[in-house]
Amino acid sequence: MSVKNHVTLEFPAVPENVEFARVAVACFASQISSFTLEEIDDVKLVVSEAVSNTVLHSYDVSGGIIRLSAARCNDTLTVIIEDFGKGIADVSQAKTPAFTTDPDRMGMGFTIMEALSDELHVSSVPGEGVKVVIRKSPHGAAKDSDDKEV
Ligand code: ATP
Ligand code: MG
Repeated sequence: MSVKNHVTLEFPAVPENVEFARVAVACFASQISSFTLEEIDDVKLVVSEAVSNTVLHSYDVSGGIIRLSAARCNDTLTVIIEDFGKGIADVSQAKTPAFTTDPDRMGMGFTIMEALSDELHVSSVPGEGVKVVIRKSPHGAAKDSDDKEV
């Protein structure tokens, strides 16, 4: 199994880049032709939840950088969203439905991300940042369509 294509982007953790990240990843994901539009919409929502978390929770007023990587390996899309901010002390607690450190929010971001991904891995070193790894494949797609091309 080899990586067929990959991109890495770095951008400031500002609200206007949530939409940028959604569209950029949707564009990359559409290279996997067996994704349905609904599955691409799922990917967009997962990416916006992850990038929103970084914009909202990771950095203080001085801001910081988000690194977003997307890779296509056969028909599996992997998206990695990393920040280098304050991190999460207890990742299991943060992933609990309705847990939030911001009383104005619902605490449902990780729950939504988990429901719409095939795999979600969240890791963090407090004081060093958060890394979110998302994997998704088209339903029923067992084989890369490119492999059938001559
Ligand atoms: P919602 O996503 O519903 O608007 P929320 O962002 O609080 O609310 P989650 O996305 O589930 O909910 O995140 C849960 C908690 O995990 C956050 O309240 C925050 O404390 C912490 N968290 C999430 N992402 C990060 C991050 N990148 N850096 C630091 N803390 C984070
Ligand atoms: Mg959130």
